[in-house]
Amino acid sequence: MLALILLRSLGLLAAGLFAWTLAEYVLHRFVMHEMVGKGMPSREHLVHHADPENNPGRPLLSWAGIVVVGAVLFLPSGLALGAWQFGGAIAGLPVYAGWLLGYGIYEQVHERSHAKAPRGRYTAWVRRHHFHHHHGHPMANHGVTTPLWDRVFGTLEVPDVVRVPRRQAMPWLVHADGALRAEYAAFYRLVGPADADARLAAIDRARAFANLAPVAD
Ligand SMILES: [Zn+2]
Ligand SMILES: [Zn+2]
Repeated sequence: MLALILLRSLGLLAAGLFAWTLAEYVLHRFVMHEMVGKGMPSREHLVHHADPENNPGRPLLSWAGIVVVGAVLFLPSGLALGAWQFGGAIAGLPVYAGWLLGYGIYEQVHERSHAKAPRGRYTAWVRRHHFHHHHGHPMANHGVTTPLWDRVFGTLEVPDVVRVPRRQAMPWLVHADGALRAEYAAFYRLVGPADADARLAAIDRARAFANLAPVAD
């Protein structure tokens, strides 16, 4: 009996994780990009696009939103599921836990993709996929942890080379003097000036809020 409950809870947790991956795509594409700056999540995200390495976003606020949305989505449906399973809202809890776990993983993966060098095939893929989104095509590659939903909805783009504006280069991509690290030369190019003057910063912001890639030259 205990083993069965444990197994079902793990299944429900996995369902919550899976639900998160869809939300990651839907929120990023529709709530953040397609809203073009209307509403706080969209504004915050497009500010992240305007100057990605200096505007990581505000995870505490995002966490608050995800905690509330997950509770609304999963605890009531958990009540219905619970009638079939353990009684009460208990069935909703593992789904909710999976949702929160999924979001936590996403936050880590996204934050590290900006701040830390890749360490294996998956983390290298995450970076090529996500920085093509940032610097190549903001309306493609909305998934961050998985390409699944981009594939399903036809927004997957696999870049040969990601062209990164020097002024927005991830710290791990370059040496202290700003030169591209040799180990990334096969997949990344640096373009444009190293610093954004006020005019270029304004252009970066305007283009981010119009879902256009930053100017490359
Ligand atoms: Zn990002
Ligand atoms: Zn984005």
